[in-house]
Amino acid sequence: MTTRRITQLIKAQPVREGAGVTVHRTIGTPALRHLDPFLMLDHFSSDDPDDYIAGFPDHPHRGFVTLTYMLNGHMLHQDSMGNRGDLRSGGAQWMKAASGVIHSEMPQQTDGLMRGFQLWINLPAREKMSDPAYQEFAPDAIPNVEHDGARIRVLCGNYRDVRGPIDDPNTHALYLDVALESEGRFVQALDPDLNAFVYVFEGSATLADTALPQHSLAVLGAGSELQVIAGKDGARFILVAGRPLREPIVQYGPFVMTTREEIEQAFADFRDNRLVRAKAHWISGA
Ligand code: FE
Repeated sequence: MTTRRITQLIKAQPVREGAGVTVHRTIGTPALRHLDPFLMLDHFSSDDPDDYIAGFPDHPHRGFVTLTYMLNGHMLHQDSMGNRGDLRSGGAQWMKAASGVIHSEMPQQTDGLMRGFQLWINLPAREKMSDPAYQEFAPDAIPNVEHDGARIRVLCGNYRDVRGPIDDPNTHALYLDVALESEGRFVQALDPDLNAFVYVFEGSATLADTALPQHSLAVLGAGSELQVIAGKDGARFILVAGRPLREPIVQYGPFVMTTREEIEQAFADFRDNRLVRAKAHWISGA
């Protein structure tokens, strides 16, 4: 067993997104453009409605998957496939934008804590223009495992013998939400072929003797297992891993393709109301 070490530590950068929502970005910043197959990681966490109330009105995506994990709060999702779904504390949503989706993500609360993560996962070139798809996972669909003073929610992949309900078939992604007690230890075997990161969002921890500060993303180097040890106040973090696609990435805002021409096509399709093939006249709430 070789222990994975931290190769890069990326401090989250505040970014205004949607109609004026403050998110904290790590993957998708100048310091870390991508971590193949991951294109973007936004953490949102605020109990100030001014940071989230404007929400994310209708906007397009093409060429990748969005995986949203809601820790606290309530959002309503509506999309051009005709889906309407509630995202509540502890629930998750996997949306394959592929050839094109227009959707909105709007807060259903006027106060209180809104907290979670949105991860963008790339699609292989052969699937970028395939049909979009959408799946929602209620809080109780995500298994909770208690082990050695740790509480692990398994969103994707396996923790011990427990399998998470979300499957990202191209990247075999692993996505765990781990809560450790004071000085608790978490050990996980990890396929050496997967790119992986850890993001601490409560307390603090160390990984292979290196500090994992809160609200920073730690990129993990080569190895077949990792060990995280919580600090005195405990720690809560996400561990995410996925198989790299090793394809060119050309990204422009909400479109991620493999060539410049495909990006231009995405803009033209959006402008001409052709991004969404099935329901070109769709407007959320209409
Ligand atoms: Fe979106």
